[in-house]
Amino acid sequence: MIETNRQIPPDRYLARLAACREAIAERGFGALLIGVGPDLRYLTGFVGDPMERLTLLVVPRVGPVSFLVPQLEAAKARATPLSGAVGVGGAGVGGVGGAVEILAFEETDDAAAMVAELLAPARSAANGSTARQPIGLSDRLWAMHVLGLQRALPGRHFEPASAVLRDLRQVKDADEARLLRLAAQAADRTVDAIAAGRLVGRTEADVSREIRSRLIDEGHDLADFAIVGSGPNGALPHHDASDRTLEAGDPVVLDLGGTLAGYLSDTTRTIWVSGEADIEPDPEFRHVYELVRDAQAQATAAVRPGVPAEQIDATARGVIAAAGYGDCFTHRVGHGIGLEVHEDPYMVAGNATPLRLGMAFSVEPGIYLTGRWGVRLENIVMCGPDGPEVLNRSSLDLREVRG
Ligand code: ZN
Ligand code: ZN
Ligand code: ZN
Repeated sequence: MIETNRQIPPDRYLARLAACREAIAERGFGALLIGVGPDLRYLTGFVGDPMERLTLLVVPRVGPVSFLVPQLEAAKARATPLSGAVGVGGAGVGGVGGAVEILAFEETDDAAAMVAELLAPARSAANGSTARQPIGLSDRLWAMHVLGLQRALPGRHFEPASAVLRDLRQVKDADEARLLRLAAQAADRTVDAIAAGRLVGRTEADVSREIRSRLIDEGHDLADFAIVGSGPNGALPHHDASDRTLEAGDPVVLDLGGTLAGYLSDTTRTIWVSGEADIEPDPEFRHVYELVRDAQAQATAAVRPGVPAEQIDATARGVIAAAGYGDCFTHRVGHGIGLEVHEDPYMVAGNATPLRLGMAFSVEPGIYLTGRWGVRLENIVMCGPDGPEVLNRSSLDLREVRG
């Protein structure tokens, strides 16, 4: 495996937290409460799975940031890059308005009540000044925690924290861009290896297993998905992988992705299994393939700062509709990608958000002929200063697999 830098320096987390607090003020929020998940990883570097015990970063508009954690996770919370950057405990640090205070609670403590205590107007003048402002809850906080916080903070108004964090997270910083590139390249090598291997006589599930193990071998920490849609299964955009056996003469949609240092890859290639009999793609398949490729290329070429997200969708859709296949392109053309495989910004009709430098998203038009086959081609694209930066580099030429 090649040597690559997968670290995000602690200073980056300081910068993100500072930007978060600016955004809290701009949006008129009183505080954000961030549970375990991508928002917490983004702000602190904390990696974990949500559970029944509450783990919550409490970011008030002003005043110290608190990291409320169950006792058994306190050491992990102290070791996050953010804690390392600002220091833990009482020592105040400039820039983000204080240190991160780790508050470890015992199994018998009421964690939601502790959060209410932290935000109580009686506790500080700052809390008093923000007591009427909404509290942002991270989108992935479990309902049991949301309900507990609502009970502990009666009279407070709650909103999704994404209203504050969306603008930050959808514009990738240099560290995120680097990790997205690494993930994309690891996915490309996986696609190339599958297209260079043997497919005839194997089940979709078997090929899917090979994709997952190659995603890891190529540098991902996790293999998240490995869609193998052969023949008629290719016409189901979110088909997974079945026991269907691949045969010569099958088109196959391969849509795969994994997580590398927290960041996702996601790429799709449609290949043609010609087998030893060397069965040529039929003319309609070739035609549709070139159409999807053209739609993908034109939508990608439309990427530049200031262009509304919906225009990327409309560009691809226009190409496909003009050729008479509009009804067969049944999903939006793309989604943002980062710490989540589907995140803002969405390339979809109705999303007028202007593209900004550093936004990363998929461009993945498809044409699906029910009962026959499908074609989808997907690259991750970043919005550069003058146009698109395409992160996936594997070929978009139609590959005919002989084996
Ligand atoms: Zn999808
Ligand atoms: Zn995909
Ligand atoms: Zn995708």
